[in-house]
Amino acid sequence: MENVDWAALPFNYHKTDYNVRISYKDGKWGEPELTQDEYISVHMSAPCLHYGVESFEGLKAFRGADGKVRLFRPDENGKRFAATARKLCMAELPVETFVEMCRMVVKANERFVPPYGTGATLYLRPLEIGMGAFLGVHPAKEFMVCVFVSPVGAYFKEGIKPIRVIVNPDYDRAAPRGTGDVKCGGNYAASLEAGEEANREGYANSMFVDAVHRKYIEECGAANFFGIKDNTYITPKSTSILPSITNKSLRQLAKDMGMKVEERPVAVDELSTFEECAACGTAAVISPIGYIYDKETGREWKFGDEPGKRCLEMYNKLQDIQYGRCDDPYGWTLVVE
Ligand SMILES: *Cc1c(COP(=O)(O)O)cnc(C)c1O
Repeated sequence: MENVDWAALPFNYHKTDYNVRISYKDGKWGEPELTQDEYISVHMSAPCLHYGVESFEGLKAFRGADGKVRLFRPDENGKRFAATARKLCMAELPVETFVEMCRMVVKANERFVPPYGTGATLYLRPLEIGMGAFLGVHPAKEFMVCVFVSPVGAYFKEGIKPIRVIVNPDYDRAAPRGTGDVKCGGNYAASLEAGEEANREGYANSMFVDAVHRKYIEECGAANFFGIKDNTYITPKSTSILPSITNKSLRQLAKDMGMKVEERPVAVDELSTFEECAACGTAAVISPIGYIYDKETGREWKFGDEPGKRCLEMYNKLQDIQYGRCDDPYGWTLVVE
């Protein structure tokens, strides 16, 4: 691609050359196929349109300092994609096929992988939908998986900047035995209103607390949460939190840096004891949190306008691996050749 201000690209759909698709019919998967068609033909009676029979994933391809293109832990996304499918009674795409489709679509769109040093990346969006035509509420028998890509600019255009979040008692994201631990579109639809209200009131995101006790931190918008104190990386554990691959990777890096790691319920009350806290996910890697406001009680917590030392260290380490600037001791990256 020429004459593109890569760094300035928004997080938005940008047309590329190809996407890759595979269909499930008569009890089996076909073969992945590349297409230039940006549209999917869906019957008006398909369950993806009525009953939310839909799942998705999000991962990135990075152009490294050495010019190579790397995917970050695509097998983990593949496993989570299969776990979501199980929960929604959809056909499970084998992890190898998922990874192969990611590889194929990046290779076919290589000219859209942004140059090294721009902070821009190629975002991959895999999705699975229930197809066919029926009206009753029961699992679908036909499915389509599509993986498309879009170049996206750096998340933080002017360096990492801490965000402001609000704890709003008026909204729950997910129920303890619901679908909070899988990546389905329904969870996102259910969180939009809270996000819009947070934005209107000047916050980047709404911080969700658990739906039962309204006491424990769950997620920060569509990202996981962690706090740091006493040389310990602490992240909430709950059945309604989406298991973030970024969080999983940061837990490993924290251990490697000599920190302890705890996964356990984290009460909102505990916020006052953290030295640093942040949201984490593929989009931004780490978004340090500078300010939290609890709408119900009026309490507020301030962590400052600059990212904390540990957050920065972990952010840099993870990016070094993603861009191939250091060893990859756990084999997290897959070079697309
Ligand atoms: C996708 C997602 C995350 C982040 O997961 P990563 O694998 O780190 O990108 C966190 N929370 C929710 C609700 C999500 O949907």
